[in-house]
Amino acid sequence: MSLDIRQIPVLNDNYVYLVREEESGAVAVVDPAVAEPVLAEAERLGWRITHILNTHHHGDHVGGNLDIQRATGCTIVGPRADRARIPGIQVAVGDGDAYDFGAATARVFDVPGHTSGHIAYWFEEDDALFCGDTLFALGCGRLFEGTPAQMWASLSKLRALPDAVRVYCAHEYTQANARFALSLGEENPDLAARAREIDAARARGEPTVPSLLGAEKRTNPFLRADDGGLAAAVGLAAAPPVQVFAEVRRRKDSF
Ligand code: ZN
Ligand code: FE
Repeated sequence: MSLDIRQIPVLNDNYVYLVREEESGAVAVVDPAVAEPVLAEAERLGWRITHILNTHHHGDHVGGNLDIQRATGCTIVGPRADRARIPGIQVAVGDGDAYDFGAATARVFDVPGHTSGHIAYWFEEDDALFCGDTLFALGCGRLFEGTPAQMWASLSKLRALPDAVRVYCAHEYTQANARFALSLGEENPDLAARAREIDAARARGEPTVPSLLGAEKRTNPFLRADDGGLAAAVGLAAAPPVQVFAEVRRRKDSF
């Protein structure tokens, strides 16, 4: 693998990632909520920031863009559909694009739902997915600018990636997500076991992110709207997956 990925916890529950491509020495910051802790960590590591990769326009993902750009002269890459809402954007990318970052390549997916222009970056060779606020460990983002059908389609795209993909999402929401997932009453021993592991990790003060996409496929209710067991558990046996997804999302909004 050619990427060295470091996780920086900032604000209440955000994760910013520093990603170094080892062959070229290129260093990307994914979704800098803030600048100072990111610049400090790069300095401590002796890494020179060359890129910012943004997934969407929310302040807790782009708040550090301009200060980091001023300090480093880095290139800001972000969603084409959201050009006007990404501070300092220089390179706009969208669905199907392959963005070369040093010797690595990020494949870009449009994943609307949380916001209309949300994108995800998949480093196929390194099994790393940076998905912002679209897919969380055991959860998904709120639908601020999209419909359940859009979000279900977006999550289905991500679900099609290999089980070994590590899901680098932007928030530590996992423990609350686990409580919600259990509340749905689905018969799912994998979920019960995972919830116990999550509680243990949090009790030790450890992050639960990244998670493995394979585990998300088995346990994340938002990836399981086409599972008959989950549909029955929420009283929608034989309903279309989009309807099941919408019901699960609706329940989470008021959980
Ligand atoms: Zn967001
Ligand atoms: Fe966020």
